[in-house]
Amino acid sequence: MSHVSYPYEAPQSQSLFDRASVVTPGGVNSPVRAFRAVGGTPRFMVSGTGPYLTDADGREYVDLVCSWGPMILGHSNPAVIDAVQRAVALGTSFGTPGQGEVELAEEIVARVAPVEQVRLVSSGTEATMSAIRLARGFTGRAKVVKFAGCYHGHVDALLAAAGSGVATFGLPDTPGVTGAQAGDTIVLPYNDLAAVEQAFAAHPGEIACVITEASPGNMGVVPPLPGFNAGLARLCRDNGALFVSDEVMTGFRVSKAGWYGLEAANEGWAPDLLTFGKVMGGGFPAAAFGGRADVMAHLAPAGPVYQAGTLSGNPVATAAGLAQLRGCTDEVYATVDRVSAEISGLVSEALTKEGVAHRLQTAGNMFSVFFTEAAVTNYEEARTQEAYRFTAFFHAMLAEGVYLPPSAFESWFVSASHDERAIERIAAALPAAARAAA
Ligand code: PLP
Repeated sequence: MSHVSYPYEAPQSQSLFDRASVVTPGGVNSPVRAFRAVGGTPRFMVSGTGPYLTDADGREYVDLVCSWGPMILGHSNPAVIDAVQRAVALGTSFGTPGQGEVELAEEIVARVAPVEQVRLVSSGTEATMSAIRLARGFTGRAKVVKFAGCYHGHVDALLAAAGSGVATFGLPDTPGVTGAQAGDTIVLPYNDLAAVEQAFAAHPGEIACVITEASPGNMGVVPPLPGFNAGLARLCRDNGALFVSDEVMTGFRVSKAGWYGLEAANEGWAPDLLTFGKVMGGGFPAAAFGGRADVMAHLAPAGPVYQAGTLSGNPVATAAGLAQLRGCTDEVYATVDRVSAEISGLVSEALTKEGVAHRLQTAGNMFSVFFTEAAVTNYEEARTQEAYRFTAFFHAMLAEGVYLPPSAFESWFVSASHDERAIERIAAALPAAARAAA
């Protein structure tokens, strides 16, 4: 029987959490950080270097969250820090166009072929929110199809049956989203093309777009079945809707051109719009949406669909993002892929040795472990896993100085800086964690 123990106390983190809980709801600024799903004291981090984070009590952890994806080069990457320091010295925000925005947009357009034009924003939420507004403005239609378990940020219309924190806390939807805001959202089971076909048949001429995570990581890692994304693109095209591929998590992480580069580029089709965030900000708030020039031309000031942001294209954020993207070479992706395969293999091996039923699921260099026997292809299946085993596993790893996402429904992330020493530390922590999960 698995058991949870908290063998290491974290008095400084606990004291900060106590203070935070007085002035901030739940003590955190994003729900999953609170450790509610796994219990115990959330670690308040004070610094990060390469694959390591150090908490307020001075304990070091091998980081397998990487800020939920962005830190693909590791923490405090010298080129990124240098670019930020140089940008900061020139000023922090001008509210005018600047050279960094042009260069970051050019870098994105050069990497992802279907992105002919791109608009910079400050968060992935803004990117998906703006993309569906644009899709609605372009098509003159109201309805949006999304998939259960996919998370696209906390956009009102997209919070129905969302993944990530919403999945972690088992919420079907959230108070504060009105019936009107969610009324045009059609939620379908992931990987079910027939359901999408039926939705188009039931709502002829009404669906503005289908939005999907390019390869979902917010219900744990649940890759698209072969042909699913291509089928979505085809159904959208045949029915006059736009296909919006949300690459906030996968973009510039799983390849130079994100999930597009691993799948659509090889299959000869393209999404109409794509959204990005995380890696492209280099650890700063920078995100984007982009795609077909004829669609993007509908955005203000070129067109009538309004979208704006005081800090959009912020010079410090764009400098960080540009430095990180330029650092993401073919070699870096090869390293991240290798490190990911090595670490996920070690995890699976340790669990197998202890006879713990589990499923290692991968999407490029993203992976997660489901404590279940069968393959997981959608949200309903993901929710059948024995999440209590993850809780025991999580705390045993934390006690040994390995920081995992504090939820069974999240992707794990590695970086190019996860070296042999970091991997050895993970390997050393695994036997006890696998025993705890058994
Ligand atoms: N889309 C996806 C696929 C995500 O994973 C996330 C965040 O995890 C978002 C959108 C929202 O991004 P942000 O948290 O920057 O608003």
